[in-house]
Amino acid sequence: MKEVRLRHHHLLCTRTFGGYGYDKRFVANMEEVVSVLRSPDGLVIQLEVGCDDICSQCPNVVRGLCKDHESVVKKDCSVALFLGVPEEGALQAGPLLRAVEDRLRELDDFRSVCGECEWADLCNEWLRTKGKAPKKK
Ligand code: SF4
Ligand code: SF4
Repeated sequence: MKEVRLRHHHLLCTRTFGGYGYDKRFVANMEEVVSVLRSPDGLVIQLEVGCDDICSQCPNVVRGLCKDHESVVKKDCSVALFLGVPEEGALQAGPLLRAVEDRLRELDDFRSVCGECEWADLCNEWLRTKGKAPKKK
């Protein structure tokens, strides 16, 4: 069985991802995770409030934790509430990703769920263009 470990807010970031990120290694890994999520059949998403398969290639990890640990934990909990999913657990990717799509249709500002985020303007642009926001060249 294939499995991807994701913290909750990354369920949203992987949906809006347009090629931007902290560095090349991070972006390459993000592309790989997004690609895996495009084929959800037989895929399990292990939800956790902690470093995941995206954080694993991020330059902002310090001693196994995000340098903004407290604020990203709050963000994960907020997104868990928004999506109505548990803070920990293994979920089938297909239904979970469809639930993410449904909830995103009702959203008009990512800041209301994610709080302050340096990428929020790009994500809101993605919402305004119904997922067709310009990708990074
Ligand atoms: S606003 Fe930030 S945390 Fe929220 S989905 Fe976009 S990039 Fe992710
Ligand atoms: S380590 Fe922090 S900044 Fe990096 S991907 Fe994980 S939550 Fe985001």
